[in-house]
Amino acid sequence: MGARCALCGGACTRHLAGLYDDRYGYPGRFDLAQCGACGHRQLDAAFTDADLVRLYSEYYPRREFKDADFAPHREAHGFRAWLEGAGSSAFRWVPPRVRVLDIGSGIGQALAYHQARGCEAWGVETDENARPVAERHGLNVRIGTFDAAMFAPASFDYVTLDQVIEHAIDPVRFLSGAASLLKPGGRAVLSTPNSHGIGARLFGRRWINWHAPYHLQQFSRASLRLLAEKSGLVVESLRTLTNASWLLYQWLHLAAFPAPGRPSPFWDPARAGREMARGPRRAAALLHDLRINHLATRAADALGAGDNFLCLLRKPG
Ligand SMILES: [Zn+2]
Repeated sequence: MGARCALCGGACTRHLAGLYDDRYGYPGRFDLAQCGACGHRQLDAAFTDADLVRLYSEYYPRREFKDADFAPHREAHGFRAWLEGAGSSAFRWVPPRVRVLDIGSGIGQALAYHQARGCEAWGVETDENARPVAERHGLNVRIGTFDAAMFAPASFDYVTLDQVIEHAIDPVRFLSGAASLLKPGGRAVLSTPNSHGIGARLFGRRWINWHAPYHLQQFSRASLRLLAEKSGLVVESLRTLTNASWLLYQWLHLAAFPAPGRPSPFWDPARAGREMARGPRRAAALLHDLRINHLATRAADALGAGDNFLCLLRKPG
């Protein structure tokens, strides 16, 4: 297809053809290209910023987030947290009493968690619906597409990007902007799907994290390292660490897999209870209750082949 890799400029070839929005029914088919040099994969979707606003405001479901859904994330420690893979989320790696920015803060549950631990927490969220929730709970959220000019340079100890960088049209520009907001020695924590792991191999085109056309970038270890380097950050650690619930969602996603252009009942809470067959739902729940999903997820992560990358980065200085 002649595309060049967004990370290393290498030549790309088609990896998967005709992916579609198997969650929310956005129309169209999209090819996924793979870089021959660094293994980075990118969706062949020439979105403009205006396209993305429409994609997220009309198809992405946060418009249905209600204040009643708001509950601050809680502390997670010990064996149970380990078994669940609680550390898969970037916000878990932020210490107490620091100044932290959460890019893509959503409804703000991580911000409330940080505030409860004595942090000065700020969020950026594109979705307008985050505003009333933030006002009600006293959270600092700037509404809009992330732009480093929203904040003073070199003013944060930590920046987190939880399942965000894969949505960026230009991931290097995005992370460079985030890095510019870190104080020297500050840290960025990033989580993003691993499309080179066991999950993508096992589930093929129905893997939950292709998530076309919302996920524009699918990183490899090599392309994540390049991303860090080009953004002026040093990789402190890079591994897979995956929440066991992702495997539960994968089973339910398979059970409800829709035709192109149709929204999946699983990803619509109003329809899931009514329209999904009981048998597959109960089977998936049983796998979870028996902790089989948890053990499978821990095993994949032990092999470094889990579905989620967790990456700790440091700004030199
Ligand atoms: Zn590349």
